[in-house]
Amino acid sequence: MGWFLDSLLDFIDIYAALEDNESALSGYLREPSARGARADSTQSGSSWQAPKKIVINKDTKPEWAPQGAGKEFAGRVMGGVAGGHDGMPGHLTRAAKAGVPRRHRLGVDEYVAGVTAGDRNILGQAITLVESNAPAHLELSQEVLRQVLPHTGRSIRVGITGVPGAGKSTFIETLGMYLCEQGHRVAVLAVDPSSKVTRGSILGDKTRMEQLSRNLRAFIRPSPSSGTLGGVTRRSRETILVCEAAGFDVILVETVGVGQSETTVRSMVDCFLLVMIAGAGDELQGIKKGIMELADALLVNKADGDNKPRARAAQLEYNRALHYLAPATDGWRTRAYCCSSLTGEGIPELWTVVEAFHQQTLDSGMLEKRRRVQTLDWVYSMVEEHLRSSFFQHAGVERIRAEIEHQVMCGRLPPTAAVRRLIAEFEGNRDP
Ligand code: GDP
Repeated sequence: MGWFLDSLLDFIDIYAALEDNESALSGYLREPSARGARADSTQSGSSWQAPKKIVINKDTKPEWAPQGAGKEFAGRVMGGVAGGHDGMPGHLTRAAKAGVPRRHRLGVDEYVAGVTAGDRNILGQAITLVESNAPAHLELSQEVLRQVLPHTGRSIRVGITGVPGAGKSTFIETLGMYLCEQGHRVAVLAVDPSSKVTRGSILGDKTRMEQLSRNLRAFIRPSPSSGTLGGVTRRSRETILVCEAAGFDVILVETVGVGQSETTVRSMVDCFLLVMIAGAGDELQGIKKGIMELADALLVNKADGDNKPRARAAQLEYNRALHYLAPATDGWRTRAYCCSSLTGEGIPELWTVVEAFHQQTLDSGMLEKRRRVQTLDWVYSMVEEHLRSSFFQHAGVERIRAEIEHQVMCGRLPPTAAVRRLIAEFEGNRDP
């Protein structure tokens, strides 16, 4: 854990330095012993040394440049920096120079008290803790979650999906602002398993919800930016709980409209909305019947200006198609609605539908039943995830896997026999 905390503290220090408006880019460089110096100065406040300037040797060409290369090879080798283990320059923040101790690390009680008091700062830290992959954080985060559990569950959890460009984030911004005006507190989360490649493609850029991100009644959290779908799911589910404990009574979970993420988000929310657009050529926009069957309401967005008649026509068409589909929630009829996230038209009406859905499922006991089933599913999906990674990380399995795969592909080993050999290896019984 040491390295992780060190990196985290370094990151916080660099961030603080940028906030302090230090001339970070003028080439801060500390002595190799600066890490120690920082710790010293934290205590004494006196060992701060001015950063050294980085000297660029203009004559040093990279090794791939031909000998005697002229100006046509513009690349130069820059002097390295002495600093952290990761090669990042070390430096002292203003706080460190002044001898201010590092940020206090919170304990369980502080997390729980901060979250339940709705402290945004501690809420953010608690979510970071929950999202952490470090095994050492697991115990702390699980204890925090256990203690906040009695304060959870009192929200409407709404999932929102749709193809990229359908207007999900515009819709969330408009709906979120409307809900805040109505006195709700809105948390917006995202599930984007692809973000391990794209580094947080949805909600990563908060300017997409510029107004909402400035609203104090709202809290926007981008997708955890790494991990498997299972890992991202665990973190998102736990983040929902932490946000509920912090008093957010509407949780909006955005998902990219591709792959498995819709089913995953469906399994963590009460109500699922599918955002669509009219006139995108193919009337179902490649959205399969299966996805429509997950939705509790279909929203034909961008019903404004010239597009309004097309949106109405699409709404009718979807309503006809929905007639033949099984409803996502027993006792509730999924219908299509029109709205404009740009003008806000239809947004209050849509929220009335979500509230009606919530009330009906609450009264019928469906809401509680669904949440119980979801929690149990969550347990087993984590068990599966754990078994899966134990299997693929098992040294014996890793050793024989390539050979077994080869034999299967050449048709020399039947799949069932291959499975028996792999499982026998995994279970330590080499003689299946
Ligand atoms: P996302 O990829 O599904 O999150 O879609 P965005 O919210 O980023 O929206 C994609 C584009 O559609 C943006 O240029 C929006 O301004 C536009 N857009 C979103 N909602 C509406 C709407 O209700 N009406 C109109 N005319 N444009 C919209």
